[in-house]
Amino acid sequence: MVKPLTIAIIGGGFSGTMVATHLLRLANCPLQIKLIEKRANIGQGLAYSTAVEHHVLNVPAGKMSAFPQESEHFINWLQNRYSEKAFTANSFVSRHYYGEYLQSILQEAHEKARKDVQIEHIHYEATELQPVDDQVVITCGNGRQITADRVVLALGNLPPSNPPIADPSFYQSRRYQRWAWSTSLENIVQPDDAILLIGSGLTALDLVVNLHYKGHQGKIYMISKRGLVPQAHQQTPAYPFCLKTEQNLNGLFKHIRQEVKKAEKLGYDWRSVMDALRPHTQDIWKSLTLVEKRRFIRHLRAYWDNHRHRIASGVSDIITKLRTSQQLSLYAGEIIAYQEDMDGVTVTVRPRGSEHTHTIKVQTVINCTGSERLTSQWQYPLLKNIISTGVAQPDALELGLEVADNGSLVSRTGAKSTTLYTLGPLQKGCLWETTAVQESRQQAEKLATTLLDSFSLRNTIRPLKSSTINIESYTVQPMITPAANFVGVAPY
Ligand SMILES: Cc1cc2nc3c(=O)[nH]c(=O)nc-3n(C[C@H](O)[C@H](O)[C@H](O)COP(=O)(O)OP(=O)(O)OC[C@H]3O[C@@H](n4cnc5c(N)ncnc54)[C@H](O)[C@@H]3O)c2cc1C
Repeated sequence: MVKPLTIAIIGGGFSGTMVATHLLRLANCPLQIKLIEKRANIGQGLAYSTAVEHHVLNVPAGKMSAFPQESEHFINWLQNRYSEKAFTANSFVSRHYYGEYLQSILQEAHEKARKDVQIEHIHYEATELQPVDDQVVITCGNGRQITADRVVLALGNLPPSNPPIADPSFYQSRRYQRWAWSTSLENIVQPDDAILLIGSGLTALDLVVNLHYKGHQGKIYMISKRGLVPQAHQQTPAYPFCLKTEQNLNGLFKHIRQEVKKAEKLGYDWRSVMDALRPHTQDIWKSLTLVEKRRFIRHLRAYWDNHRHRIASGVSDIITKLRTSQQLSLYAGEIIAYQEDMDGVTVTVRPRGSEHTHTIKVQTVINCTGSERLTSQWQYPLLKNIISTGVAQPDALELGLEVADNGSLVSRTGAKSTTLYTLGPLQKGCLWETTAVQESRQQAEKLATTLLDSFSLRNTIRPLKSSTINIESYTVQPMITPAANFVGVAPY
């Protein structure tokens, strides 16, 4: 007469899917996994839900394995599933393949799991969390409540808020798109429209590439504070770089610049040095003081991001071509005002370092500033709820949540939760380097182990308080994801 333990995972993008996968693989006791994902499809999240063929991964396939110890897992999967396409470890493949890959991993883990380890996709948005004794009650958008012994927040990338401006009334206009991903381009852009993209990072470039392939004829403007676009990838050999972390920010960057010069003399590229830094970035970040972290964000972040988050060379070629033909113009500066009229919107822009302004006339403005950075701007009901109730607190930089080393949330009073955990982008302020697959895959495996270990510290199987449910007759709802959403994969 036992009731299985329940782990609820809120968010079924890469992070949530991989925590679920590892739980299915590792659980050695009866377990219910509730994967609460508001999208219809598990495994895609924001990054891998695009069906657009030329929306490619920013990382070569050979570096995108979902399993840290099996570096060729993704490329092997690709070559088996799409043998006709001749993908190699250096291919930048369409992102939708990656969503399909994650679905197949979860499917396989589900098939191989113990019979009493079950998973259910709950297709709703979770809006509230309430710790009750040693459990947590999750309320979903439809009013459904789920009680879980452990909860993982795998909420990922949050939609950005509107860029600050003196008169924000234009943000109500149909000519303004608050979030680049919220609708397809066809719904908002005509082929000859002039378009302004706010931001010049990966999101903006995704849109430019999309417009290019759709045969867009109109002018495209991109504007960002520094006018930097991500650098292109190049195949680079691994560089042996030993970094001393016990330095302040100035010392660190001096050291990195010297190392780049040294590497270049030896025939390496700066990219090799950046790549060598990657495994140490979280430790470097943790070693900086709060003041130094703030200085980094204010002065260096844009430069760091455009060297660290690189693009496929094919994407870079398109951007160069469009800039050369002057269909695409890039501004470094800020938007001062919008003036809408019958045939468009006149945008007043002040170039960086200038006192003068000038205007651009466009038909549509799209916010491409990436995911929301500041916790104070969060509009998400669930996050607002856990911060307002003190169940969690923002990190000191307000880039995410305050999180302990084992992934558990830290409450307003500073207590480490024994029931609530997170991973991925919500740890940005604590770890800095925590949004991409290379980091999240390790976090997912570690967190699944932490969760299961935390149960065995208690009882593996918790007796029912009132013995009403017989394990034999305890039925678990199947995953409700429709079969059609799993390309070539049977439904759960
Ligand atoms: C466009 C884009 C391209 C990228 N390309 C790469 C790449 O090539 N390589 C790489 O390593 N990284 C890439 N990244 C980084 C990317 O963030 C990670 O690879 C990964 O997708 C992060 O996964 P996640 O699960 O943490 O977040 P997400 O993918 O954002 O998933 C979070 C999920 O949680 C769900 N959710 C949120 N709140 C709730 C709620 N309250 N209730 C229910 N469901 C909820 C969302 O619907 C979403 O599906 C890219 C990111 C973006 C945005």
